[in-house]
Amino acid sequence: MVVIQAIRGTRDILPGEVGYWQFVEQTAREILGRAACLEIRTPIFEPTELFERGIGEATDVVGKEMYSFMDKGDRSLTLRPEGTAGVVRSYIGNKLHGVGGLQRLWYVGPMFRYERPQAGRQRQFHQLGLEMLGTAAVRADAEAIALAMDILAAVGLVDIRLEVNSLGTKEDRVSYRAALVDYLTPYKEELDPDSQDRLTRNPLRILDSKVERTQEILQAAPLLGTSLSVESQQRFDRVLSLLTDLGIQYEINPKLVRGLDYYSHTAFEFQSVRFGAVGGGGRYDGLVQELGGPETPAIGWAIGLERLIGLLQELRSAPGSAMDVYIVSRGEKAEAQALGIAQKLRSTGLKVEMDLSGSAFNKQFGRADRSGARVCVILGGE
Ligand code: AMP
Repeated sequence: MVVIQAIRGTRDILPGEVGYWQFVEQTAREILGRAACLEIRTPIFEPTELFERGIGEATDVVGKEMYSFMDKGDRSLTLRPEGTAGVVRSYIGNKLHGVGGLQRLWYVGPMFRYERPQAGRQRQFHQLGLEMLGTAAVRADAEAIALAMDILAAVGLVDIRLEVNSLGTKEDRVSYRAALVDYLTPYKEELDPDSQDRLTRNPLRILDSKVERTQEILQAAPLLGTSLSVESQQRFDRVLSLLTDLGIQYEINPKLVRGLDYYSHTAFEFQSVRFGAVGGGGRYDGLVQELGGPETPAIGWAIGLERLIGLLQELRSAPGSAMDVYIVSRGEKAEAQALGIAQKLRSTGLKVEMDLSGSAFNKQFGRADRSGARVCVILGGE
């Protein structure tokens, strides 16, 4: 018989690792809960159009990486490649804006992108995300970043570098886009094929290119910062000074543009040495309207949990939950009593594992040792 394999780019999170996941999720739940953030759970699949309109067809995520399919009713559906679009759809559809202005919504769950699997890159992966909808406040930008940094620090990742940039307004970007295209066009033949394609479709993304020659060409390219209006620059300066007040260290990365079309003003990434970005986010003031909702400025971020946990595994062993009691029993009468005792102890809140093997005492004692339980209860015929 042929053994059925997991799909390429997917992974099982096995019991030996799941302690990390529970620890990270619990830490995030506490930190976000203390900051008036409410959890939201949206569907794994959505109408394809949601992502086309929300994320933008010129991005890699929509253009190349979506898991889209026709269902039996001939609707085009897509496994969500990210969390923001679904949260915004829900916010609009459920009129959450009417509930009282600002909504701080967070989520955790699987996302799907058809990418080439490699270290830190899967086709099903998980993100923890926060969306603060209905606020243009500069303080919201700093609060969002601070909460992410709190979570990273609380789980033990203290050497994550925060990179920030401002993408300005749509108008700022239109003038920058023109300046960038003017600069790059003479070099067109020397750019990598992806960047050549982006030159007309989504030129800002070229800044993200990892190709060496493209990066060389970009060395002398105009920077987005030079196209910012005075207001946009002042806004960015205020965000930076709030971060400084909070004691949050940052580096300005003038080439940070992020992959998705909907960002404006503040954009940021959490960088690690091993995986590059562990997460990132930014302000997306136009998205809610773009998806048919009322004018709603917003800011959010997402952290990739596989990468976060990959880093954590280098720092500590899996947060476990050893048993308190291990019950060994042998002989018909003893075995019959063991289950009742286990259940009684469990009802008091103790963690109790019962040996079901019926094997010789020394074998059961070996397993009791390995279980890590503090106490072993032994029931025998005598
Ligand atoms: P993005 O939504 O592209 O900004 O991604 C935010 C974070 O999600 C990244 O920094 C990664 O940690 C994580 N991420 C994105 N794509 C993948 C993937 N294919 N596999 C694993 N993690 C991913």
